[in-house]
Amino acid sequence: EQLVYYFGKTKSEGDATQKELLGGKGANLAEMTSIGLPVPPGFTCTTECCDQYYKQGKKLPRGLMDQVNEAIQTLEKETGKRFGSSDNPLLLSVRSGAAQSMPGMMDTVLNLGLNDEAVVGLAEASGNERFAYDAYRRLLNMYGDVVMGVEHEHFEHAFDKIKKKAGVELDTDVDTDGLKQLCGDYKKVIAKHADRQFPQDPIEQLRLGITAVFASWMVPRAIRYRQINEMFGLKGTAVNVQTMVFGNMGQDCGTGVAFTRDPSTGRNKFYGEFLVNAQGEDVVAGIRTPQPVAEMNKWKAPNNKTVGRNAHRELLEIKDKLEAHYKDVQDIEFTIERGTLYMLQTRNGKRTGAAAVKIACDMVKEKLIDEKTAVKRIPAGDLTQLLLPGFDPAAKKKATALTTGLPASPGAAFGKLSFTAEDTVARKAAGEQVLLVRKETSPEDVDGMNSAAGILTSTGGMTSHAAVVARGWGKCCVAGAGEIQIDEKKRKITVNGKTYGEKDTLSIDGGTGEVFAGEIDTVEPKLSGDFATVMKWADKYRTLGIRTNADSPADAKRARDFGAEGIGLCRTEHMFFEGDRLLNMREMILADTKEAREKALQKLLPHQRKDFEGIFRAMKGLPVTVRLLDPPLHEFVPTDPKAQKDVAKATGVSPKKVKDRVSALHENNPMLGHRGCRLSITYPEILEMQVRAIVEAAINSKKKKIDARAEIMIPLVGTVNELRLLRGKAEEVIEQVKKDKGFKGKLDILIGTMIEIPRAALTADEVAGEADFFSFGTNDLTQMTFGYSRDDINGFLPDYLGQEILEKDPFQSLDQTGVGQLITMAVEKGRSTNKSIKLGICGEHGGDPSSIGFCHRAGLQYVSCSPFRVPIARLAAAQAAL
Ligand code: PEP
Ligand code: MG
Repeated sequence: EQLVYYFGKTKSEGDATQKELLGGKGANLAEMTSIGLPVPPGFTCTTECCDQYYKQGKKLPRGLMDQVNEAIQTLEKETGKRFGSSDNPLLLSVRSGAAQSMPGMMDTVLNLGLNDEAVVGLAEASGNERFAYDAYRRLLNMYGDVVMGVEHEHFEHAFDKIKKKAGVELDTDVDTDGLKQLCGDYKKVIAKHADRQFPQDPIEQLRLGITAVFASWMVPRAIRYRQINEMFGLKGTAVNVQTMVFGNMGQDCGTGVAFTRDPSTGRNKFYGEFLVNAQGEDVVAGIRTPQPVAEMNKWKAPNNKTVGRNAHRELLEIKDKLEAHYKDVQDIEFTIERGTLYMLQTRNGKRTGAAAVKIACDMVKEKLIDEKTAVKRIPAGDLTQLLLPGFDPAAKKKATALTTGLPASPGAAFGKLSFTAEDTVARKAAGEQVLLVRKETSPEDVDGMNSAAGILTSTGGMTSHAAVVARGWGKCCVAGAGEIQIDEKKRKITVNGKTYGEKDTLSIDGGTGEVFAGEIDTVEPKLSGDFATVMKWADKYRTLGIRTNADSPADAKRARDFGAEGIGLCRTEHMFFEGDRLLNMREMILADTKEAREKALQKLLPHQRKDFEGIFRAMKGLPVTVRLLDPPLHEFVPTDPKAQKDVAKATGVSPKKVKDRVSALHENNPMLGHRGCRLSITYPEILEMQVRAIVEAAINSKKKKIDARAEIMIPLVGTVNELRLLRGKAEEVIEQVKKDKGFKGKLDILIGTMIEIPRAALTADEVAGEADFFSFGTNDLTQMTFGYSRDDINGFLPDYLGQEILEKDPFQSLDQTGVGQLITMAVEKGRSTNKSIKLGICGEHGGDPSSIGFCHRAGLQYVSCSPFRVPIARLAAAQAAL
């Protein structure tokens, strides 16, 4: 079995397609070598070796070191240097490199191959004794730390002693003798703190070095990085062993990193930085400030006046060659050793959403790629960055991070802390910019949420009230930041030992979940012509329809501006979140007689009708799916005495009576309680009022020549009997209203249901007999398939992700293997009895790119998502179709 792949002039065994086997770095080193770029020769031990290393109880696979030895011999021939020799020694770097990049997460060793003899050889060959001992002490330090497990501080301590003795402050001021002494001291440090001496045998150094890189695959920070970035199914890391080149041998040497185009704006301008006389870590460590590559021309060395000009010209040539070859932006690392340029790495450059859009459009214009490639290449989720204000990246870098919660609703916001909805409304009205901080939110908080610049909660998941409402509005929200303790009474929070009160400002990034101290500048988005171009291409290739979840005329309009082709879910209970309406809604819910309920419903009717008219106008000519009331009772029943008093006053009963009614309505498990269609079964007058409001609004619209296309959706159906009964009632009301209004025209109102209870999916053939459409309510379907409470998942989700029981939060990204089966089955069964049934999804997954891919494959006709996700969904739908 081939475990080692060589790259060099002699032979180049891998290529860019072999990232899984050789890792991204290894595959591209081989590819660059093959297309004639100046790459120091070396070889890659495959990710397969890493896999075997773990499978065999942390042992290198049999035969690996034989193949390594063979590769070393080839290297020696090619470079004319000998490994461990006292005469022109071959030195190697050993680096990790998985199929997907994990910057800085695993270990690296440089200058490997140096020992007490080779250092003398290096001094002679380089004509620079100080350089040689500096290289040796770097190896001893790095190797001691990474391979032999000696704490870095022991080395630091030893170095401090030498510097003190010499009376200097900087590492660079220590002379050759000092460094020689230091190498001796470092070897003693290793002997003392590790269980063995520093290995003088270079092959032994290499064997242990390779082992250490494989071992670093499983260190906690690497595991955590893969979790955060959702990197699953990787075999392990490859190990790249490469001839060392030195950027720190003198004034004609240097090192740098660059992007072939600007990764933050996408501008087609070579963008990079370099340092003269330095090694790669120096750039990263930030001790010296690098210069822009554009200034490379000015770099002159005493022995080589044109070193900068030549290197710059050569870099530009390489840039063009790389883009022509890879047909994408490249992120490169290079080193110049004594005037000669070497390429150490290339990979596709990470870019912002804005840059991704511009680069894709530019590359189509430049004929580097075609439209389809451009559409496929833009990460759909990254479009959010273009639509919402974001933090100024430079300012964010400097800010103090406090903690991280869930990225519940993207955007960026800062404000002074506010602890109640009332305060928030009042302070906003007084001209303050405030963040609403709450343990969790409920409909009582909605006014405050609306007034806040952003919302921060300490509990709750991605489908918690705060998250869903904020997303709907495009308001920034970080949810479930569990490290924050909120003391509402004292109006302060404590997070990791620090306390902040009403006068303090925090900043939250809803795209990452980060919480910062202080105010960070935000920048407003500008939608470019390129954005419109990408959307046009997306619409050309997608077959899925894109609707939106919107509950108000304003949201409906915004969504239509973003390209929504209708409303897939209008949550009617969301129409009662504010002011008087909430009170009327509570009267209705708390009523204990039919008369009292009807009285309250009569108050709600005009509000509903007016909103529906506004929505029909915003969505004229497009379908509007209105869902009948589905209030989880606990979200509406007032628990605090003041709200109870208000209801008592409004309805003319005693507060005690309201209180008793609240207790009577208490449910142990409200998400599985008296909600959805169950409400209309026990209280048909609710359905009657709502259908009346819909039909009256539709007729009023038609009279104004507005093409209203209403669809009535009955939620939380588990058996066909529920639907049959309620459909019948709805049809009666439709006819009655038509008669009442003397309307003779056609309304064509569809009546359908949500599939959000597993039983409805299992019996979809029966249900479809009574439904004009199914809309998959995957929030509840996920809740009921997993048996995880939507509101309480945060208590255990981190452990589930940490222990890899779940790959992702199933409320964010559809569980395709489990919940997905129910969808596929319901699609099939539904169509078997009702060929013309319309199928869509309106759970939060309708805006998640990978879930959209699933919906496309499952044969749904549309997805519905919050307004700000509509562009993302359009692009993701096109990607699914290509
Ligand atoms: C759902 O359950 O997926 C859904 C869209 O309804 P809600 O989130 O309002 O329960
Ligand atoms: Mg639901």
